[in-house]
Amino acid sequence: PISQKEALAGIRWNETGLVPTVVQNANTLEVLMVAYMNSESLQLSLESGQTWFWSRSRSELWHKGATSGNTQAIISISYDCDSDTLLVKVVPEGPACHTGATSCFFRDVPLNNQAEESQKSVATSLTDGERFAVLGELERVIAEREVERPEGAYTTYLFDKGVDKILKKIGEEASETIIAAKNKDNAELRLEVSDLIYHLLVLLQERKLPLDEIMEELSTRHERPRRDQY
Ligand code: AMP
Ligand code: ZN
Ligand code: ZN
Ligand code: ZN
Repeated sequence: PISQKEALAGIRWNETGLVPTVVQNANTLEVLMVAYMNSESLQLSLESGQTWFWSRSRSELWHKGATSGNTQAIISISYDCDSDTLLVKVVPEGPACHTGATSCFFRDVPLNNQAEESQKSVATSLTDGERFAVLGELERVIAEREVERPEGAYTTYLFDKGVDKILKKIGEEASETIIAAKNKDNAELRLEVSDLIYHLLVLLQERKLPLDEIMEELSTRHERPRRDQY
């Protein structure tokens, strides 16, 4: 492996001394933002472990999060095949975008018909990171509801009613799941399984059992199947 000094010496800064830098969430792999680094901001990033850029609009070094608090802890820094672009994987402290969006890439260019056909012809699915992020985000929102109890929210209603209500709902949603499956109605099954998973997460929150522990349990079973347990 090459040294940090050698890697830095290989970077091909553009004519204005900058290199475009893609910032990606190390956990979810979501692309968060693109900004420019100069050699000083890269040095500051390496020294501090947080992202620093060069602001082209303000012509100054920019510590991401200095005013917003939304700093980015660096997990890794890579450079591409021809050494003219950096990829920084981070754990963000908050939204990457100054608009408050998690990622700066929240706007789509509408596809024309040809592009839409091609898009439909290839299967897309969530990445492992995204799949887990959905559950993790749901767990977080449910925990927030339990603390804040916003009026009118269904989750607030469940926590107010208490554990017996939550258990009753799990029974109902499990029954509805069975009926949907027996009816071979996958559109309905999709809804009912979602309802069931949501209510299970509410139960985990009520019991203070972190989703992580369920994931760990599932992952040890995956390594060594124990059919007799089911
Ligand atoms: P922050 O670095 O998050 O404290 O934000 C400071 C300023 O940097 C903001 O007011 C914006 O002008 C700018 N800024 C922050 N995040 C971004 C971004 N993702 N892309 C472009 N400009 C940004
Ligand atoms: Zn390149
Ligand atoms: Zn943005
Ligand atoms: Zn249901």
